[in-house]
Amino acid sequence: MNINKHLNIIAGHILAATIQKNYPVKISNIGLDDDGFYLEFCLLGESLSTNDFNKLEKLFTKITSGAENISYSEIKKTDLLSKCGDNKYMQSTINASSDAQLPIVSFGNYFNLCEKMEFAKTNCVKHLKLVAIGGAYWLGDAKNEQLTRIKGIASDNKESFEQLVNEYNERVERDHRTVGKNLDIFTFNPLAGQGMAIWLPNGAIIKKEIRNFLGELEFKYGFQSVYSPILGNVELYKTSGHWEHYQENMFPVMKVDNEELVLRPMTCPHHILFYKRKPLSYKNLPMRLCEESMLHRYESSGGLTGLERVREMVLEDTHIFCTPEQLENEVLNCYHIVSDAHKGLNSKIHQIELSLHDPKDKAKYHHDEKMWKHAESTLKEMMIKHNIAFVEKIGEAAFYGPKIDFQVKTALNRVITVSTIQLDFLLPERFELTYKDKDGLQKPTVMLHLGIVGTYERLVSILLEQTKGVLPLWLSPVQIVIIPINNEVHNDYCQALLKSFHNKMIRAELDDRDERIAKKIRDAQTQKVPYQIIIGDDEVKTQKIAIRKYGEENSSTMTMDEFLKLITTKIQKREA
Ligand code: ZN
Repeated sequence: MNINKHLNIIAGHILAATIQKNYPVKISNIGLDDDGFYLEFCLLGESLSTNDFNKLEKLFTKITSGAENISYSEIKKTDLLSKCGDNKYMQSTINASSDAQLPIVSFGNYFNLCEKMEFAKTNCVKHLKLVAIGGAYWLGDAKNEQLTRIKGIASDNKESFEQLVNEYNERVERDHRTVGKNLDIFTFNPLAGQGMAIWLPNGAIIKKEIRNFLGELEFKYGFQSVYSPILGNVELYKTSGHWEHYQENMFPVMKVDNEELVLRPMTCPHHILFYKRKPLSYKNLPMRLCEESMLHRYESSGGLTGLERVREMVLEDTHIFCTPEQLENEVLNCYHIVSDAHKGLNSKIHQIELSLHDPKDKAKYHHDEKMWKHAESTLKEMMIKHNIAFVEKIGEAAFYGPKIDFQVKTALNRVITVSTIQLDFLLPERFELTYKDKDGLQKPTVMLHLGIVGTYERLVSILLEQTKGVLPLWLSPVQIVIIPINNEVHNDYCQALLKSFHNKMIRAELDDRDERIAKKIRDAQTQKVPYQIIIGDDEVKTQKIAIRKYGEENSSTMTMDEFLKLITTKIQKREA
């Protein structure tokens, strides 16, 4: 549902007035997002938390019940500067403007800079909910000081208000940062460094299962696995062009002896070194290399988002070296492996985009227009020929070539790339990659970059959001919980079951905590465990087990052998 922008901006000003009246603050700015509005301010010597939301909402209502006119006027820049006193945030906005007069909004003792707006009264805001509080860098720049940001949802209508609040709650519930925390999948710690994820045992299991799955797919599609160092000599990146076009996303140089080393932001130059180690002929191509590759990229701290945007990541990074004649088939092969991967993971693709260069952006892209034209039309024609639906995006290409990007929508409604196929004539030229053709002549090699499912970090964030943590059986960190009705009486039977599961490499756990059965069942549900096995006197006597599947009300009974057969088949086939 779309928000009422005008009303939410007004709500932002009223909240600013409320806070200014009751706390020592300097108001910075008010903005809008998908849920409603946000207000950023510098809080002097006091602190605010979600515990203060009730109080703030009540104070807010005092203003909105007053039905004051909100007036809009234009005021001379010099007058405004003296009016805003020592509020440096306001001063900075005023000084940045080239206009002689600036628009302001005012009511009671409150005034603030604003965009042109319609006349309104403070009582137009009928409903308000403050939903989050956190930090935000002034002007979104990590070099600036951190301000306090409060997020709110406002409406003039009860029905739309409730819908907006529900949608917000649904988004928070789905957000991988919430799911990841509830299911103990990952964590962050300032001592590990910003944007450096710590994978907990549950997360490590998910990562390992995905790795095994991708390893099988890569084998099927003819890829060879390699490993290369996470550091590279800076000269390698100067040759590749990353130093020129991508340096702002790289960590700074480390000097060791006479070498200058950098943490690699991608694996392409290393894989090129594999290609170049000996002369190759057309018979050696296509060469398909894959690597579970740890990368480091500098992301601004304001942009770091859970696992979705991190500074250290592991990318299943693959590169294909081929002849121009093999190119179409190789791109199609890439498309099929990406499709198979998402089918196996049951992840939903929002849309496929053909990312093209922007000829006007001379800093971002290499300047060989002929090469661009050839690379872009090759991908476009191939997609049309094979009936692959896509949307064209100008200015989204990599610096070395066009891409086919597989996009997904996050819980926060952002569209991000998960998989990518990139065509590159540039790096082979820079590194002088050639092969000996049938006619005995040395010819230029073509290169494809393929991210089958992107980084493990981003992929897991997507899977957690799309499933709300209800992962398929084969990916679930705990697949079965055994719950004895009586911890002592049923212990021997439960231990024997546990052993049978572990012998088959099935991730089963025994819940023998001193808790009530109802709580144990509820906890297993909260932890999204696919199967619960409840063991009581009947089960021990008949040597059977009572099984309850996640999300189902009723349980079924079968022998352990029957269940083991069922579950091992499901896991082997990677069924839900
Ligand atoms: Zn690459």
